[in-house]
Amino acid sequence: MIDFELTREQIELQKRTRDFAQEYMLPYAHYYDKTGEFPLPIIKKCWEAGLMNLGIPTDYGGPGLGVQEQCIVVEEMAAGCAGMTTSIYVNSLGAEPILVAGTADQKESYLKPLTEDLKFISFACSEPYMGSDVAGIRTRVKKEGSHYVLNGSKFWITNAPHADYFTVFASLDPARRHKALCAFIVDADVPGLRTGPPVEKMGHRASATSAVIFKDVKVPEENLLGEEGEGFAIAMKTFSLTRPAIAAFSTGLARAAMEYARAYVAKREVFSQKLQEFQVIQFKLAEMYMKIEASRLLYHKAAWAADKGEDATVSASVAKAYATDAAMEIASEALQIHGGFGYIDQYPLEKLFRDAKLYQIYEGTSEIQRLILGRHVLAGYEPAMEKIPSWKSKGKPEF
Ligand SMILES: Cc1cc2nc3c(=O)[nH]c(=O)nc-3n(C[C@H](O)[C@H](O)[C@H](O)COP(=O)(O)OP(=O)(O)OC[C@H]3O[C@@H](n4cnc5c(N)ncnc54)[C@H](O)[C@@H]3O)c2cc1C
Repeated sequence: MIDFELTREQIELQKRTRDFAQEYMLPYAHYYDKTGEFPLPIIKKCWEAGLMNLGIPTDYGGPGLGVQEQCIVVEEMAAGCAGMTTSIYVNSLGAEPILVAGTADQKESYLKPLTEDLKFISFACSEPYMGSDVAGIRTRVKKEGSHYVLNGSKFWITNAPHADYFTVFASLDPARRHKALCAFIVDADVPGLRTGPPVEKMGHRASATSAVIFKDVKVPEENLLGEEGEGFAIAMKTFSLTRPAIAAFSTGLARAAMEYARAYVAKREVFSQKLQEFQVIQFKLAEMYMKIEASRLLYHKAAWAADKGEDATVSASVAKAYATDAAMEIASEALQIHGGFGYIDQYPLEKLFRDAKLYQIYEGTSEIQRLILGRHVLAGYEPAMEKIPSWKSKGKPEF
């Protein structure tokens, strides 16, 4: 039997996170959105509440939760503040390559500290000249004795100004594209590594984003993740495990937008009637609800596949592409329902609208998800109808 019910533990985790989001995120979301400050006090509370670094196994001091639980948590948090959630969740993204390909020593040295104290790890893949085309990474790496030496720059790296460690992707030879990529763990305080100032952003303003520059940065050979040339596969595996969470982020944001719209239409009067009396408005709410339900089911399915150890690439792309587009549409419609009030700072809709946009961009744009899915339909997908008889072959049945 297919089971759509959460377990008792998952419901408890969901409630704990919902309470956290309502007490510590939502009331401060406006402040951090306006100022663009890094919400360190909130993230500290989150770490203390045990709601961060959820995928780290118990052997290394973490709770060892699955992708499904991480999705449940980020749906709740993103309904509180998308920007804060990005800064909180990026530790999971940064740590995922170590979970995917790290040795026991690497996990002990770099995952355990994340659970002993509040530390930040960032995922450094994108560069000024490439984001979607991961195989096109230009940051160079060269082996020199027992070290690797990194040169190049990364851009849009979440939490970079606060990071203690980075997982970094670099190329032995850009001409060999994905075959030459390597992944490393890099300490943030090594000579030659510097981060740029946080960039101004339209949304997720509570998360810090900046460049990372490597100038002759020496990385000990024991910090190579997997083997030379495995960087591309490590990055893709990482995305298959983290994209379901981006779909869950989107679901949380969309749910909040729908709930604000629901509250608004119950009190706003137009043409001597409450907005909620108009069928056009009810239909808008119905559309939002359908899309939120579908988004949640899709992220659960992708997370379920990931937790079973299956290759979740396709279901993660389905969930991310669908849920992020849905969140953008829902944020837009919820803002529309608020009329002029939706466009100004009096309600959170204009923030949700700005925040929703990022989901269609980071961790693989909506177009990249469709590229993956198009290729799947053409090459990986197994047709359900093995034998398709030629059309008009039989005419009238004789039985
Ligand atoms: C706030 C923020 C935080 C981020 N955090 C991180 C982070 O922590 N770590 C990290 O590594 N990166 C991060 N990123 C980078 C992000 O993942 C990239 O911006 C994203 O992957 C897109 O890359 P790009 O910006 O270079 O766009 P491009 O790759 O230049 O794409 C431009 C446009 O062309 C489209 N396009 C590209 N290729 C194709 C194609 N083959 N077919 C059709 N259309 C195509 C894209 O979909 C997009 O619409 C972050 C970005 C932002 C904005």
